[in-house]
Amino acid sequence: MMHAAQERGAELRIGTVTGLARQGGDVVGVDLDGERLEGDAVVIAMGPWSVLATRWLSLPPVFGMKGHSLVFETEETLPPEALFLEYDEGPGSILSPEVFPRADGTTYVCAISSDAPLPVDPASVVPDDGAIDRLRGLCDRVSPVLANSRVIASQACFRPLTQDGLPLIGAIPGARGAYIATGHSVWGILNAPATAEAIAELILDGAAKTVDLSPFSPARLAALDAPASSSLASP
Ligand SMILES: Cc1cc2nc3c(=O)[nH]c(=O)nc-3n(C[C@H](O)[C@H](O)[C@H](O)COP(=O)(O)OP(=O)(O)OC[C@H]3O[C@@H](n4cnc5c(N)ncnc54)[C@H](O)[C@@H]3O)c2cc1C
Repeated sequence: MMHAAQERGAELRIGTVTGLARQGGDVVGVDLDGERLEGDAVVIAMGPWSVLATRWLSLPPVFGMKGHSLVFETEETLPPEALFLEYDEGPGSILSPEVFPRADGTTYVCAISSDAPLPVDPASVVPDDGAIDRLRGLCDRVSPVLANSRVIASQACFRPLTQDGLPLIGAIPGARGAYIATGHSVWGILNAPATAEAIAELILDGAAKTVDLSPFSPARLAALDAPASSSLASP
């Protein structure tokens, strides 16, 4: 999708956004590693790090829920069905591993959520101590193919969560030119294309046609910096 966008004139810039350019209440660009980039629209899509945008804008909080995963080199030995399992790890510990054999001959397995705190720098996310060994042990027990396959990635990531479990998608109140698209929790990959299409319609046409965005409005939740009385009014 990025390549298709670039063929149509989009430019991909990789860097850290450190602030927003403002003109009165309007948002008219971003500061990217010390360089000001002007723009008609700014979309906050920083996953769980969107919480850091509350330094710049009045926004509901976004939380991070950590998960762990392994990628195995299984070649074409597994059928293509995804598995959603329940796994009894021992007294009081039921895990919900997911297994995704991929068309490229690798298999992705994830499980073991934790409430470890979100690091401020996305590049410093690392697995919790012992979590990868637990996940490897689980894979060894559920599948002889996985037990005999090489692990090519051991990793952790944070899912972006909101207070009511629904994503935040839409225009940010009180800051013309600013939009948000995050908070998809465990389904951010699946829902990203629909979210992106709806946000593009909102920016270009003034309203989304393909998705009713009203349940996802950021205005439905109290902003992180809102006074206590307004948080009582949130659903
Ligand atoms: C173990 C696990 C399994 C999952 N399985 C599935 C699944 O099967 N299906 C599914 O649909 N979803 C799944 N998800 C959820 C999915 O990964 C997330 O919902 C999705 O990645 C969220 O996308 P996002 O773009 O909002 O945030 P992210 O993917 O977190 O991306 C945010 C990006 O913003 C960048 N960023 C942060 N701050 C700044 C800044 N100041 N300047 C510039 N960049 C910044 C970060 O570096 C990061 O690259 C899973 C998640 C986990 C952890």
